[in-house]
Amino acid sequence: MKTLLALNWKMNKTPSEARAWAEDLAERLSPGDAELAVMAPAIALPALAAHLPAGVSVGAQDLSAHESGAYTGEISAAMLVDVGTRYAVVGHSERREYHGESDATVAAKARQAQQNGITPIVCVGEGLDARERGEQVPYTLAQLAGSLEGVGEDVVVAYEPVWAIGTGKTATADDAEELASAIREALRERYGDAAEEVRVLYGGSVKPDNIAAICAKPNVNGALVGGASLKVPDVLGMNDAL
Ligand code: 13P
Repeated sequence: MKTLLALNWKMNKTPSEARAWAEDLAERLSPGDAELAVMAPAIALPALAAHLPAGVSVGAQDLSAHESGAYTGEISAAMLVDVGTRYAVVGHSERREYHGESDATVAAKARQAQQNGITPIVCVGEGLDARERGEQVPYTLAQLAGSLEGVGEDVVVAYEPVWAIGTGKTATADDAEELASAIREALRERYGDAAEEVRVLYGGSVKPDNIAAICAKPNVNGALVGGASLKVPDVLGMNDAL
């Protein structure tokens, strides 16, 4: 199973900036052991699909839970597929917090992605209060169960503790492995042997200097990176470290 370096730009970069970034990456990237995927604002996906180097995948940061129709402002899985999208992040903590997305909504989005041939990257992870109570494992597994309702095994799970996102506070590699192994066990109960092929990512203040230690853990199969995904040199540094 290839390590996945998934880059979540969040609400950054215009289509023109995305194109320049992709051209810069194409000039400087030497193929490594990891698979790269760029999760960009939907409007920048066509520019990325046209200009990313071969082998680097295009991903969305969200999609509609509905197939098509009267859902003003939403973007369907079929529209994303049409511009070359391979992955879609669903249930990012920022969507859960600022857009009120429930586990049921997240699961509906993940199913919609799968029905259209997009692999969902389902995000889960506890906030600071659950962590301080020592309840990170049950909290995260309950969120995972709800978010995977009816979702098949062609999925990626990203463990992103909310307290470590954009704060500079990284979970230790052991913290990441604690949750990744608990997630793996839950995936085994759900998918049987196929769970060994599901990639479990860690996200939260991942950078070139900490990615190797985190991804060396047995149940961590890659990273979902926010801030350090915006600059090509940081991406090259992370790719080289894997
Ligand atoms: P940072 O890497 O900026 O902490 O963001 C993590 C994240 O939310 C990726 O989805």
